Amino acid sequence: MIPLYNFHSHSHHCDGKESMEEYVKAAIEKKFKAFGFSAHSPLPFPNEWSLTPEGFRQYVQDARHLIEKYSNEIDLYLGLEIDYIPGHSEDFAGFMKDTPLDYNIGSVHLVRSEEDGKIWFIDGPVEGYINGVNEIFKGDFKAAVTAFYKQSIRMIETQQPQIIGHIDKVKMNNKQRWFSTGEKWYADLIDQTLEAAAKNNCIIELNTRGFYTGKIDEYFPSTDILHKCLDLGIPMMVNSDAHHPSQLDKHFAEGHDLLRKIGFKSVKTPFFEIEI
Ligand SMILES: [Zn+2]
Ligand SMILES: [Zn+2]
Repeated sequence: MIPLYNFHSHSHHCDGKESMEEYVKAAIEKKFKAFGFSAHSPLPFPNEWSLTPEGFRQYVQDARHLIEKYSNEIDLYLGLEIDYIPGHSEDFAGFMKDTPLDYNIGSVHLVRSEEDGKIWFIDGPVEGYINGVNEIFKGDFKAAVTAFYKQSIRMIETQQPQIIGHIDKVKMNNKQRWFSTGEKWYADLIDQTLEAAAKNNCIIELNTRGFYTGKIDEYFPSTDILHKCLDLGIPMMVNSDAHHPSQLDKHFAEGHDLLRKIGFKSVKTPFFEIEI
């Protein structure tokens, strides 16, 4: 059996439910080998989901306390899911240096238009997703999706995230309605993004959250992208992006089964590698 791990989780410090300690207790109860905290990094504008600057300090303090307190029972790590928005977000290196964090996940939830700097929120309700494309990209979904992947590539090349979070999340609200992920222009964007990931030694996560919440009928990333990751030698890991302690190992086994079926022999976290 593969030892349980999860490096993508959100507690009540950001948009998750329950305290960090509840996650730790649940992880110990399920006999996890390792568990990582990865709250949403503070952003320079008010929002509903990320840490505030004060919350960030508290988060770090609480995490360090728990890492110490439970050191005999489980390997705990302090991470951060850092939002990359060119011109808005802080450099990952700055976060890592000032705090110091054990690891980072680089994610794009907010796409900044290069033309006027307006921001498209790809997560959240579908209405906001569509309105953003209409208002910022004049209804051109191809332009909007291209901006998402160009921003992801820029994040990979300039920030070198250790783990790339839900790499094709832009598909979630689309559900093959306004663009098809089978089109050539889309596959080309994926190829460019994966090449950047391979070159910068990033780990790509298989993120099970969209699937177990019922928002989408596959994982992030799609199976065809997983095949490409294997061909490029990109290391993968499975994360549940838990927003509640009960979600710690959601689709952990299924995610690894899929990776094995595709041909992966191991998974890699920032701290250890496991044969699967
Ligand atoms: Zn995320
Ligand atoms: Zn997350």
